[in-house]
Amino acid sequence: MKILLNNTSLFESLRPFNDLGFVPTMGGIHKGHLSLINKSNKLCKKTIVSIFVNPKQFNSKKDLRSYPRNIKKDLKILKKSKKVDFVYLPKFKDIYKDKKKSKITLLKKDKILCAKFRKGHFEGVLDVMSKLTKIINPQKIFMGEKDFQQLYLVKKKLERTYKTKVIPCKTIRDNNNVALSSRNFLLKKPNLVIAAKIYEKLVNIKKYIKNKKNIRSFLNLQEKELKNNYKIKIDYLELRNIKNLKISSTNKNSRLFIAYYLNNVRLIDNL
Ligand code: AMP
Repeated sequence: MKILLNNTSLFESLRPFNDLGFVPTMGGIHKGHLSLINKSNKLCKKTIVSIFVNPKQFNSKKDLRSYPRNIKKDLKILKKSKKVDFVYLPKFKDIYKDKKKSKITLLKKDKILCAKFRKGHFEGVLDVMSKLTKIINPQKIFMGEKDFQQLYLVKKKLERTYKTKVIPCKTIRDNNNVALSSRNFLLKKPNLVIAAKIYEKLVNIKKYIKNKKNIRSFLNLQEKELKNNYKIKIDYLELRNIKNLKISSTNKNSRLFIAYYLNNVRLIDNL
């Protein structure tokens, strides 16, 4: 596993390879990231993982400050996996060397779910993903369905602009079905117990939605119940079509999307 600390070393090391799988991360490596790496390892000759906490996608300074960082531990896990050929650890200047302001804007129809609640977040994600793709030039990029809206927007943008394919990967969960996330490192045990209960509740909601005539009012009621039962803040609880992310009135081709806070940590999930 070769560690690439700047773009010169990256260009030199990657030049011979034209079947490259790329797994972009912000570190805090867990089994969710490892499942993306495994898939890349199966489908591509070489796998490169990036670790870069992109300040431009954080809409809150406090969130950026508290984001879990542990490069030493991350590198140890990646090395142990034996599935990673390169780890790219860029500095801010490697990514944002031209100081021009990004021109990325979201369409009005895309300003939904997390885009509505985290202003500027996806503009930052799309910008960094474009830059990383241009620098690395991978044949395939592996991204998780846990961040479904991110996967949807990045796939749409990158496949239109670059010769790369974005491959969706299933959400990996812990033993209690809580979706793995680097942000879970910021949770306490009782928070994880509640997260597991919320997952159970979502499974039930999804099951009962089938028989409901007015899904919107059913979900409003469920959202209130979740808020009252667990004393949590919820940004959204919505059923949306997986092809276009429009509000859905049927379970078919749809996922239930939630964003909520535990211990001031914002968690998302979809099923
Ligand atoms: P992050 O480091 O949180 O930016 O995530 C890097 C990549 O890992 C993104 O494509 C995420 O969607 C993916 N990812 C994060 N958590 C999971 C998970 N529990 N299961 C599958 N993929 C995940």
